[in-house]
Amino acid sequence: MTIDIDAFLETVTEAIRDKDVPVVDLIAVQTRDPFKVLVATVLSARTKDETTARASKKLFKLAPDKEGLAELSEEKIAKLIYPVGFYKNKARYLTKLPEALDRFDGRVPDTIEELITLPGVGRKTANLVVSVAFGKPAICVDTHVHRILNIWNYVKTDTPLKTEMALRKKLPEKHWITVNSILVAFGQSICRPISPHCDLCPLEENCPQHCVKPRKIPGTKRKKNQPLTLLSWNVNGIRAMEKKGFIDLLPDLDADVIGIQETKAQPDQLSDELKNIPGYTSFWHSAEKKGYSGVAFYSRVKPLSIREGIGEPEFDREGRVLTLEFDTFYLINIYFPNSGNHLKRLDFKLRFNDCLLKFAKELEKKKDVVLCGDFNVAHKEIDLTHPKANEKHAGFTPEERHWMDTFIEAGFIDTFRMFNREPGNYSWWSYRFNARAKNVGWRIDYFCVNRRAEKRVKKAEILKDVMGSDHCPVLLEIC
Ligand code: SF4
Repeated sequence: MTIDIDAFLETVTEAIRDKDVPVVDLIAVQTRDPFKVLVATVLSARTKDETTARASKKLFKLAPDKEGLAELSEEKIAKLIYPVGFYKNKARYLTKLPEALDRFDGRVPDTIEELITLPGVGRKTANLVVSVAFGKPAICVDTHVHRILNIWNYVKTDTPLKTEMALRKKLPEKHWITVNSILVAFGQSICRPISPHCDLCPLEENCPQHCVKPRKIPGTKRKKNQPLTLLSWNVNGIRAMEKKGFIDLLPDLDADVIGIQETKAQPDQLSDELKNIPGYTSFWHSAEKKGYSGVAFYSRVKPLSIREGIGEPEFDREGRVLTLEFDTFYLINIYFPNSGNHLKRLDFKLRFNDCLLKFAKELEKKKDVVLCGDFNVAHKEIDLTHPKANEKHAGFTPEERHWMDTFIEAGFIDTFRMFNREPGNYSWWSYRFNARAKNVGWRIDYFCVNRRAEKRVKKAEILKDVMGSDHCPVLLEIC
């Protein structure tokens, strides 16, 4: 099988759009400084990107240029860059670097032949510096590049050097500069060295998968017509939840898809463990403002498509809506705005609500729609312990409740009330006054479906015993 390299690289570029950029590329973009790119590249050999980033930051604080580096002793450099791989050797090379650069008038040279004369600089490093720091055609071949291009049968080589030589003859020059960063990001996230995530890979159908053993996902073998279990949970800060054992708890909940709200984190603040809980793939949509709002999904079912936001920048910058498309329905995960103290954000919320409703109605024209999330409103008096006392408070104002009426009249069903018409069922309790123990709460987390999907709903529940947040998860089973 011969692959179309242009199409493959274009697909991969799209697939890694939200993944971490390799650290050296990041430093190149941030600093535009060949010296820093060269030093970071030397540090990055056989070292995780996070470690390289930390070590580079510490070193550049004291040695932002050749002169600064010349003032540091080998021991000091070793201390600063620890624990990068082979830090003692790298410290030795870096000590010699300022003098070596003097041969080039104190500048970092821009050819491979000159670069490989510098201490600790091999062909791979030289290629990377030439392409990333100087934007000149050169093919850097990281192990990911070598591995993936062999998986694709694009080259048949047994060393990165042979891969580089084969690519020089074969790869169109327009890909030379970018191929390394694209395939490194792809190799770190999807086409991993061990158990590649072929189930998530957009190339799965066309990839030769030469010598590949794709990962197995527990729980993905579904019996025909087996309902899907969906959960929705406002976690009130995913990093705080991680400390409370979220990573171990998630598999125990045994849901096929979990929509979470109020993640209060941006992707670079999340640990690898949190992003890659075994058996699940995670999708994140964060607010621009740090530590605020944010929604995410963990799914063990591969979605057909993922959509962030609702197409309105005013709302989308707050990271409030994330939609997964499955074969027979869309699942919209929403963190509705809170009307706030003195109802300062009530107008904003009502405008958001209207846009959201329009968004859901548009999707409904194509296939069924399931909406889940923290709606930040108790619809009826039965949905909170003290309705009278809260009539003027955020989450129970006539305006917010009226919008819920409009939403239901527009053809959406509150699935919990299909099965349970009893009072005393809540999904949120204040942290104050021992409210949860006394069951003084509000039902503000919902699963709703469009009317056409009503007959597909098998179960809707509140999992009030699941602890960790001031909200508990709500559940929907749908076939
Ligand atoms: S299908 Fe699997 S082996 Fe092929 S590129 Fe994708 S993740 Fe890698």
